[in-house]
Amino acid sequence: MMTGTQYVASLQDGRRVYLDGERIDDVTTDAGLGQAVRIVARGYDALHRPGDDARNPAFTIPRTADELRARCELLVHHDVTLSLSAVAMALLTSSPALTAADPAAGERIRHWFDECAARDVRFAELITDAKGDRTLAPSQQDDPDLYVRVVDRDRDGVVIRGAKFHTTAGPIVHELVVLPTKRMKAGEEQYAIACAVPANAPGVIQITSSHHARHGHPRDRPVSAQLAIPDSMVVFDDVHVPYERVFLDGDVARSAVIAHSLGLWERLSGVAHMAHLGDQLAGMAQLAAEANGTAGIPHIKEKIAEIVIYATMTRACLEAALGNVDVNEDGMLLPSELYTNAGKLHAATGYAVMVRHLHDIAGGTVVTAPSFADVDNPETAGFIEKYLRGARGITADHRLALFHTIRNMTADEWGGREAVSWLQSGGGLFAQRTVTRNHYDMNAAKSTALALMEATDG
Ligand SMILES: Cc1cc2nc3c(=O)[nH]c(=O)nc-3n(C[C@H](O)[C@H](O)[C@H](O)COP(=O)(O)OP(=O)(O)OC[C@H]3O[C@@H](n4cnc5c(N)ncnc54)[C@H](O)[C@@H]3O)c2cc1C
Repeated sequence: MMTGTQYVASLQDGRRVYLDGERIDDVTTDAGLGQAVRIVARGYDALHRPGDDARNPAFTIPRTADELRARCELLVHHDVTLSLSAVAMALLTSSPALTAADPAAGERIRHWFDECAARDVRFAELITDAKGDRTLAPSQQDDPDLYVRVVDRDRDGVVIRGAKFHTTAGPIVHELVVLPTKRMKAGEEQYAIACAVPANAPGVIQITSSHHARHGHPRDRPVSAQLAIPDSMVVFDDVHVPYERVFLDGDVARSAVIAHSLGLWERLSGVAHMAHLGDQLAGMAQLAAEANGTAGIPHIKEKIAEIVIYATMTRACLEAALGNVDVNEDGMLLPSELYTNAGKLHAATGYAVMVRHLHDIAGGTVVTAPSFADVDNPETAGFIEKYLRGARGITADHRLALFHTIRNMTADEWGGREAVSWLQSGGGLFAQRTVTRNHYDMNAAKSTALALMEATDG
């Protein structure tokens, strides 16, 4: 397994990354990206075990209920780069279906997966294409490159061109895993491509957004300091990918199989994270009410109760997803499609309302609190100590820390990124609604309705 130091060194590999109009020669030393690298490096050190047989637990293929649950626990307590191993789980889940058409596909997936586990690498998931006019199919766009496609091939591999968007962690991981974003139709074979590309492969260009603050006091941003990971637009400017790294090539009939599996693993991770997040929102709301002296006021108690119910229902969906598993042909345990998707949809749609309750309870100081730098300044420290304290026994320091945490979590650049991310990640609400509907037993529901009608008639 890699240590944090080895991980940092592994990123100094000539990758082509841009941020704020400049080429970043070394992502590990850049002011913004370097902070994210250090977050991931700490995760490497926390998981590191010596010995050639040691293996990152994110590479454990769940075959028992305990292993599936352990995976969720692991992801919730580490930075998002570990959660992105969902893409490896998606490939393994899809392996039997892909192998039915291409007998060597499963072997290539397994070989690549084992090699990634041995190197202890991190992945990015590249599914979201540029898409141009969203109502037009890939082949109908005025520029054929608006969906990633194969533009050439030789004896050894394919050449891909196009761009993938919103790639979480792209600039600071090793393996960029490209998948078709949706089912392709006959005639769109060039777009049915799934493959793994090293982040430093010639022709790979990442144009990045960093969510790390470059100024201010560290105590102003305790959440992003632990969690903020950059996103990027990844351009494939005629990138050669050897066949051993190609998992789907031209098979339109199976082009949506991996995307569907990724949706399941991404959303399971989303539900697990959001169950934890729900508890954090409830805790923040209660602490804010106590700090402001409003914890006993009926409308505040009602809003906190709503957050508690939101958190509990999200966790209930996670439990149901883990408790109603399927098994694929390779013996891999899969969480329930129905409860995973319904749970993710519930958590994502309710999040904005819960944040509204939190902001309502906490008050405007969430966005106007002075920086901790002003606490360090003797000219302003006294005024802050005198006027920012709250209910009896609540210090200004405690309230400031609380309000900065709420702002960082929900209302600054990182908080805004998170709000959009919870809504869109895992393929967006529409996809979650559709999969939920498809896995719901409507015939059983109709039978119960018919039974009720018969009882009424009788
Ligand atoms: C912070 C963040 C991180 C992300 N991380 C990743 C990542 O690591 N990897 C990755 O691949 N993706 C990632 N995503 C992308 C995410 O899955 C997409 O944002 C999501 O699928 C929506 O795609 P879009 O952003 O292109 O929006 P659009 O496709 O433009 O969708 C916007 C709206 O239009 C609707 N819409 C679009 N087309 C149609 C249509 N034809 N018919 C009906 N309705 C339509 C959608 O349902 C949605 O409501 C991330 C997104 C965010 C915000």
